[in-house]
Amino acid sequence: MEKIVSLCKRRGFIFQSSEIYGGLASTWDYGPLGAELKRNLKEAWWRSNVFERDDVEGLDASILMHPSVWIASGHVSNFEDTLVECKSCNKRHKIESIGKDKKCPLCGGELTGAHQFNLMLKTNLGPVKSDLSVTYMRPETAQGIFVNFVNVVNSMRRKIPFGIAQIGKSFRNEVTTGNFTFRSREFEQMEIEFFVKPGTDEEWYHKWVDERFNWYTKFGIKKENLKKREHAKDELAHYAKACTDIEYNFPFGWSELEGIANRTDFDLKQHMKLSGQNLEYYDDETKERYVPYVIEPSGGIDRSILAFLVDSYREEKVKDQKRVSLAIHKALAPIKAAVLPLLRNRPEIVKLAKDITNDLKKSFKAMYDDTASIGRLYRRQDEIGTPYCITVDVDSLSDNKVTVRDRDTMIQDRIAVGMVKEFLAEKLK
Ligand code: ATP
Repeated sequence: MEKIVSLCKRRGFIFQSSEIYGGLASTWDYGPLGAELKRNLKEAWWRSNVFERDDVEGLDASILMHPSVWIASGHVSNFEDTLVECKSCNKRHKIESIGKDKKCPLCGGELTGAHQFNLMLKTNLGPVKSDLSVTYMRPETAQGIFVNFVNVVNSMRRKIPFGIAQIGKSFRNEVTTGNFTFRSREFEQMEIEFFVKPGTDEEWYHKWVDERFNWYTKFGIKKENLKKREHAKDELAHYAKACTDIEYNFPFGWSELEGIANRTDFDLKQHMKLSGQNLEYYDDETKERYVPYVIEPSGGIDRSILAFLVDSYREEKVKDQKRVSLAIHKALAPIKAAVLPLLRNRPEIVKLAKDITNDLKKSFKAMYDDTASIGRLYRRQDEIGTPYCITVDVDSLSDNKVTVRDRDTMIQDRIAVGMVKEFLAEKLK
C-alpha cells in the first residue's frame, strides 16, 4: 500500500486535499494522471452500461435535493453509526471496533456510552439559516434516479425492464477513515437503478451480480483478487431483500468494491408516500399498474481506481535492474503513447517526434518527452502505465520508420511513420 500511495503522489495520480494546510482528513485530489485515469474509468463504465446496452439510460441529477428526499429514503433517521467517545483522547470509534475490554483502541482510555451519529453532511440553502433552509449533500446518487423515474419513463418512452445509470459525487461524514482513498468523505459513485417487474427481481439480481463481476475482470482485475460475498439476512440494509458485495483483495484485506442490492419497491413507494405523486408504472400490454422492483449495482469510482492501481502494479528484475510498471488496461491508461526522441540535440529528430505527437493527440492522450536519457524515459512511462512508447532515432530520418515499444512485452516493432497512428489505433481497441 505504501508503494501505491508513494507512486500516486510522486507521479501525479492522487494528492492529499489542501496539503499545504496540513491536509483535510479523508479528502483527496486527483492530479494530472489521476484525472485522466478517472475520466477513462468513468468512460469505460458508461460505455459498457449505457452505450453498449439498449436497456439503460443515463442521467446527471444534482447533488442538492429537496430535504424530503432524505426523509423518504430513510437517511435522516437511519443513516447512522453507533459511536462511543474516549474520555481521555476524545477520539470517536464505531461500536463494532471496540474490543472486549471496552477501552479506547488508541490510548486505552475509558469510553462514554453509545450515541447515534448521522453520516450525512448538512448544509443550508438561501440567505437565512434556519431549520427550514437545511438540506444535505447527497450520501448516494441513487435518490436522484428514483425521483426522476417517471420523467425518464415518459420522456424516453421506456418500457420495463430498463435501468437508469448515473455517475456523480456523494458525501458521507465517515467516522472510520484511512486506507488512502478507500473510505473518503467526498467520493464518486457509479450507480444503476434497474427497474423490473416484481417477481422477475431475483433473476435480474443474479444477472447484475455476474455482469458487474465480469466487468472488473474484463478491464484487467485478476479473478483471484475478486470475490462475491452475499450478505446474511441480519446484515441487510433496511430496504434490501438481498445484497451481494463484490470484494477486492486490497493490501489491507478483502473489502467492498461494489454492492449489488435488490432494493425492492421500497424507494419508489416511500417517495409516493411523501410526495403524494403516483410513481407507478403502467404496462400497456398487460394493462397492469404496479410499482417496479429495483436492482441496484452501486460501485465507487475511487475504490475502483485504487483496485485497478493495486492490481496492475508490477515489480520485476530486467537486466539486473528493478523495473516498476503499471500493467493497467489500455482503455484506462492515463497516457496511451509517449513519443521520445533518442537525441534531443538533433532538431530534425525533435521535429519529427513532435509532429508524430501532434498527430496522435488528435486521437488520444499522447505526450512528447525529451527530458532524460531514453532508459529513464522508458522507466517513467512504465511506471505510469503508458502502453506504447515511440522512439525516433537517427535512422528514422533516412528510413522514415520509428520504434514502437510495448509496455508489457517490451517487444519493439519498427513501423513506418505514416502507419503509427493506424498501428496504435488497432492495438488500443
Ligand atoms: P462500506 O460498508 O464500506 O461503508 P457501504 O456498504 O456503506 O460501504 P454503499 O452505501 O453500498 O457502501 O455504497 C456503494 C459503493 O460506494 C461502495 O461499494 C463503495 O464503492 C462506494 N463508497 C461508499 N462509501 C464510500 C466512501 N466513504 N469512500 C469511497 N467510496 C465509498
